[in-house]
Amino acid sequence: MDVTAQSVWNNCLSFIKDNIQPQAYKTWFEPIVAVKLSDNALSIQVPSKFFYEWLEEHYVKILKVALTKQLGETAKLVYVIKMENTYGNKQPFTEKIPSSNRGALKSQDVDVPLNNKNPELKNPFVIPGIRNVKIESQLNPNYSFENFLEGDSNRLARNAGLAVANKPGGTSFNPLLIFGGVGLGKTHLAHAIGVDIKDKYPEKTVLYISAEKFTQQYIDSVKKNNRNDFIHFYQIIDVLIIDDVQFLSGKSGTQDVFFHIFNHLHQNGKQVILTSDKAPVDMQDIEQRLLSRFKWGLSAELQSPDFETRVSILKNKLYRDGVEMPDEIVEYVAKHIKTNVRELEGAIISLIAQSSFNKKEITVNLAKEIVEKFVKNTKREVSIDYIQKVVSDYFQMDVSTLQSKTRKRHIVQARQLAMFFAKKYTKASLASIGSQIGKRDHATVLHACKTVDNLSSTDKQFRKYVEDLSKKLSL
Ligand code: ADP
Ligand code: MG
Repeated sequence: MDVTAQSVWNNCLSFIKDNIQPQAYKTWFEPIVAVKLSDNALSIQVPSKFFYEWLEEHYVKILKVALTKQLGETAKLVYVIKMENTYGNKQPFTEKIPSSNRGALKSQDVDVPLNNKNPELKNPFVIPGIRNVKIESQLNPNYSFENFLEGDSNRLARNAGLAVANKPGGTSFNPLLIFGGVGLGKTHLAHAIGVDIKDKYPEKTVLYISAEKFTQQYIDSVKKNNRNDFIHFYQIIDVLIIDDVQFLSGKSGTQDVFFHIFNHLHQNGKQVILTSDKAPVDMQDIEQRLLSRFKWGLSAELQSPDFETRVSILKNKLYRDGVEMPDEIVEYVAKHIKTNVRELEGAIISLIAQSSFNKKEITVNLAKEIVEKFVKNTKREVSIDYIQKVVSDYFQMDVSTLQSKTRKRHIVQARQLAMFFAKKYTKASLASIGSQIGKRDHATVLHACKTVDNLSSTDKQFRKYVEDLSKKLSL
């Protein structure tokens, strides 16, 4: 650590701290590390590109004031973005991109990682058989088991992962195939296994690679006429983690070479860990012999987390970021974002950002606004059938009773409520609603809607029905 950089930055921080909200300070300034001071330019490391963008957009003025106080008018600020997926490299591999002029500081430069290049693997073709060759594992230490929260949705996969990490190559989970939809934690879990193995068995050669990059390397090797070197390189690995193998679909050359590598590793008791967005049975354009290998070990599914797990994932994230948020809000977000952990995290980050930058208090309404942006594309339309089902369940009657001709008051009311919600939540016409709910005409539906409106403003009990049902239907 650079002492001068550190002290300059500390002085900036105490100025900033006095001038912004404590929560904003904690969220956006505490994680920053001062790394270097040279030519009157202070380099600060920020955890992500997102982070840098927020700082630029919202705090550039105060940063400028703080820094010029310290270093005078010629002060410069350089951001160093900590590599997302850093693979634990010590050297940041950075490229300078001149910033636009929007920053208030002179000649502001941004260091961004060259994520698409793979520095440690620039020559993957090391001489086989020599075991002291160092291969960088390409693992991201931030993806650990510790912060991969367990729930019913991932228990099998997570525990299988732990078992594999304890005894790589020594369990029947070989290969371990983790599959599931986007944003459910496949990549995270795959890294966690590798990280844990590296921790327990530092001498083992672990390699994480995406199927895409693997394919690219293979294609290059064919071009350069060193396919055998490519194969040998992969054959000396003890734990091979290949992410998103569905990418191999239709790429028969790569599948073929992977088949050979797989067999070699498996025969030698080496561990293979794969992830995929589909179960093996649903994978298309993957050769049968490869699919049958995938099934040798264990295929474990990551499902969408249940409500409790979503809440604990969010709370854990907030805790790690040092942010406090009322339970009510956390639960609101968890309730509405259901199918994708990445979106769940995204929503909470936006929420923190919004509230600290606009100095807005975090309220359920703000949460609503933000959640809507995340779910608007996935919001499903409720069907009239579904509405009838929910309403009948609520009044503990059958759908057929709800639709019947009877004039019993509570049944008539249930039917009217079903019509009212069908009008409210679907695009169906009055006539179509009527014909689906007990073959009534459009005038009956119109009457039902008016009755529900009237009753809910005059009858307390009835208003409660409407509120309860609204909640059930707007999941
Ligand atoms: P996938 O590879 O399945 O698309 P990722 O592994 O990239 O998904 O996960 C998306 C995000 O969700 C990551 O930030 C990851 O840390 C987080 N995540 C997923 N599952 C969990 C979990 N069980 N606990 C904590 N974080 C999780
Ligand atoms: Mg992934």
